[in-house]
Amino acid sequence: MSKIKIAELFYSIQGEGRYMGVPSVFLRTFGCNFKCAGFGMERPMLSTEADDLASIHELNPFKRYEDLPLVTTGCDSYASWHPDFKNLSPMLTTDAIVDRIMEILPHGEWRDEHLVITGGEPLLGWQRAYEDLLEHPQMAGLKEITFETNGTQRLSDDFKKYLFAWRRQNSIREITFSVSAKLPCSGEKWEEAILPKIVCEYEWFGTAYLKFVISNEQDFADAECAIGAYRAAGFKGSVYLMPVGGVESVYSMNNKNVAVLAMKHGLRYSDRLQVPLFKNEWGT
Ligand code: SF4
Repeated sequence: MSKIKIAELFYSIQGEGRYMGVPSVFLRTFGCNFKCAGFGMERPMLSTEADDLASIHELNPFKRYEDLPLVTTGCDSYASWHPDFKNLSPMLTTDAIVDRIMEILPHGEWRDEHLVITGGEPLLGWQRAYEDLLEHPQMAGLKEITFETNGTQRLSDDFKKYLFAWRRQNSIREITFSVSAKLPCSGEKWEEAILPKIVCEYEWFGTAYLKFVISNEQDFADAECAIGAYRAAGFKGSVYLMPVGGVESVYSMNNKNVAVLAMKHGLRYSDRLQVPLFKNEWGT
């Protein structure tokens, strides 16, 4: 039986993208190929570690996710990949994960809820385990899955075959790839973050869309450049602009500006409902 290192497993409503407002189980896997230390920093390309994270290290060890501080710089889900916090993420069998999912679903079974497999980067090391997870008898009622990815990981041949098979089992099933491609404001290198051919492949297996985190005009200029590269490679999916802001003070400073920018350019706006509704606390 496969195992997955689980950073968080919780029930909430999806706050972003295509399924905004849909009751969802979030399965946050451990591990990421990026750090995104640049978010909220003044000179992102020079950052190797975000300021907030550096100060959190001094307070460590934390025993529970709920006690971890929220950050205004760097990756807002830092504990799902940083080695200093890996003790908070147990390695669970797929059976144990399904048991926990059934406990947190309001009716103890799948009805209209959707599964979000997020991270970290959920396509980095766990592709082989998802078949075991999704083939568990109690997962048969699941109809919709979203993989929240940074768009840098190829799908393995086995996983591609499985995704086709999962959809074929039931014609109303849907697979979505929510691709949060990282712009230079993240601190990641363009050539490592903007990989259009990989994202185009996701479209063979379901719906894929791009979601860019925007804080200012420069970010939007970078997003336009990236959109051009994805379109040139044949990407046909939708594009969302989403305001930066893992904490309410930052989010509320620019959410309206980003919505106006999206309207002006005929792009979709994604909110981050978990911030105004739940203050982006862990487990929301
Ligand atoms: S890709 Fe996502 S999870 Fe990974 S460091 Fe960046 S924001 Fe965090």
